[in-house]
This record gives sequence, structure tokens and C-alpha cells, in this order.
Amino acid sequence: MTGNARSAASSPHRPEPLPPAPGEERSPALALVNTLTTRGGTPVDELDTPRRAARWLADRRLTDDGLSLDAAELDGLHRLRQAVRGLLDAAVTGRAPDARWVESVNRALSAAPVTATLAWPAGGQPSRHTRVAADRPVARALHRLADDTVSLLCGPDAEALAACPADGCARLLLRTHGRRQWCCTRCGDRVRAARHYARRRAAADLSTD
Ligand SMILES: [Zn+2]
Repeated sequence: MTGNARSAASSPHRPEPLPPAPGEERSPALALVNTLTTRGGTPVDELDTPRRAARWLADRRLTDDGLSLDAAELDGLHRLRQAVRGLLDAAVTGRAPDARWVESVNRALSAAPVTATLAWPAGGQPSRHTRVAADRPVARALHRLADDTVSLLCGPDAEALAACPADGCARLLLRTHGRRQWCCTRCGDRVRAARHYARRRAAADLSTD
């Protein structure tokens, strides 16, 4: 049995994760919303257990390795994700956001106050450091995700924020890669195939008129 076959056999109901969508590498908030997607019409949640959520946070350097989340912290992460999703969707569609989503992001920000400090080592240059004060590492991670949401919505990347146009795909992306509009090659192939099919059907309709 090959390694791939073995890993597929060990998790028969979980599809392979998609490659990161453009922009996820620089925006953890965007990566967060893309952890809840649909595959073939079925919802897929990459953060459905405390263990998977802890792995995800550590992989993005939002917490250290080896963290364990309790049920309330996992619920807090899910609630923040829902709020960020709503806010990013509002930015993409131009619709007014629900006030509860704004409140949720502000709550995550105020739960972990930030202190700025100056560092100036001998022979070096002055630099600014920020320290997020919170009792629990998860609160610091939620603060960073909320802070990145504000940067994304209020900064230059807001213009590049877009929804993947592939049918059945729920992922968001930043259009930072030239004219690329979809979240991954798999979706790009599906969009192109759908357009090709639509053109052929339109041509067939014309010829039968
Ligand atoms: Zn997509």
C-alpha cells in the first residue's frame, strides 16, 4: 500500500485539503474563513475538533506547538470565524454588515490589550515591538486574527478581496496574482469547463433557432 492510499484509508470521509487560496499566505484572517468550505456540496470544517484547531493555529504561528483548546475556546474561534466571514462577504458584495460581526471582532481585540515598547540595543537601530497581553494563548491568537481582519478591511488589500467564482466553492481570495480569479487550479479548470459548456450550448441554441 502506498503512503497516499494509507492516509486516504485512515480518513475516508475527509477530502484532501485544498492548496491555500491566493492571499492566505499574508492574511491569517482570510485563511481562517477558508477553513470552512464546501466540497461537492458537503460542508468541510478544518477546525472541527480542538486538536485540528490547535494544529491550524500553530501551523500559522498564531500559537506555539502543543497548545490544547477547551470547548469554550474552540467555540470562540468558530464565532470569530463566522463574524470575519460575514464581514469579508459584506466587503465583497457591498452589503451592510451585521453589527454583531463588528462587535465580535472588537471583543476579540479588547480581550487582549496591546502594549507597544521601544527596543534600542547597543550599536543597533531603534525598533517598535508590540506585546499582546492575555492570560491564554488562544486569546492572543484571536486578537491577531481580529487585528488582521481590520487591516484587511481597511487597507489596500480590501480592493483585491474576491469570492472564488467556481460553482459550489465557498472560498475567498485576494486577486494578487495578475488576473487570476479563482482559489486554486481545480476551481479554475471547473470555471473554464463551465464557460466552454455555456458557449457550446449558446452556439447550439443559435443553430436551432
Ligand atoms: Zn474555489
